[in-house]
Amino acid sequence: MKRTPNTSHSFKWSWLRHGVQVVALVLFAAPVLLAGWSLFGVSVGGDDPVSTPADLPFFGSLSSSTVGGVTLLDPFGALQVVAASKTFELDWLLAALPVLIVYGLVRGRAFCGWICPVNLLLELVDAVRRKLGLKVRETPVPRHAKLWIALAVLVLSALTSFPVFEAFSPISALNKGIVFGAVAGVWVLAAIVVAELFWGHRVWCRALCPLGGFYEALGRVGMVNVKYDREACIHCDACRKACLADPSILDPVLTERDILVRAGDCMACGSCVDACPTRALALGLVRSAKPAEAPAGERVEA
Ligand code: SF4
Ligand code: SF4
Repeated sequence: MKRTPNTSHSFKWSWLRHGVQVVALVLFAAPVLLAGWSLFGVSVGGDDPVSTPADLPFFGSLSSSTVGGVTLLDPFGALQVVAASKTFELDWLLAALPVLIVYGLVRGRAFCGWICPVNLLLELVDAVRRKLGLKVRETPVPRHAKLWIALAVLVLSALTSFPVFEAFSPISALNKGIVFGAVAGVWVLAAIVVAELFWGHRVWCRALCPLGGFYEALGRVGMVNVKYDREACIHCDACRKACLADPSILDPVLTERDILVRAGDCMACGSCVDACPTRALALGLVRSAKPAEAPAGERVEA
């Protein structure tokens, strides 16, 4: 027996997620901005001591940061440096490992859903696009293209002896723009925004971002999953329309071939859970990966 629609969810994952995205943005921008203000104070004759970001318990960027004196590296950035320099240092592995372990345990693309500032920007652009009534295609590029782009970035880094994605990454462009007012990376961000408005819905995050591709490869092992209750589902398609990753990753559950969204693409963002009128979806720690829990029919590769 199907449940009746209930649209009055008291809690929305998107509220919490947007809060985390903003806190992450402020956390990375604040130390450098504070140091800039100190220097500005000195330049106009103030006598407060000038602190540098390195004095603070946290500073850095999404590529490389220091937390309580411990250096952390973006694993994909570290891989590019290894490919470009053709050398390997244990320190790089030790700095990338904690990040890899955290996202590996949670869900690889939780970085995309909860931390990446480009995702936040694109959600805003998407809201504007919908307001303007601009229609774009859902999947103009296959979602797994980003896996191949990530591989191409590593090969190109090796061939050019340069960490290629770091040169045109919209994440560092946004970081540098906010912190230093740098406009050099604006063209990358502008191209992504134009693509969102006129070419394809979330095409950058869904199909093109090599960092998203890297985390997709890591994504299937995470313990935070979306769970499906087939008794409650009324097949309204609201979850597919809301999915930040790709509507097709919900197909295995909606066709009752699985009870968990297992695709490495899933960002654990909770947008589908927020959109579901009958609470047929829930986001949480689900360790079970037993295909036997699925109803009749075989599990599908997502
Ligand atoms: S399936 Fe749900 S949690 Fe996963 S990316 Fe799509 S909307 Fe987010
Ligand atoms: S799981 Fe998806 S299709 Fe089913 S009721 Fe919820 S939003 Fe609608």
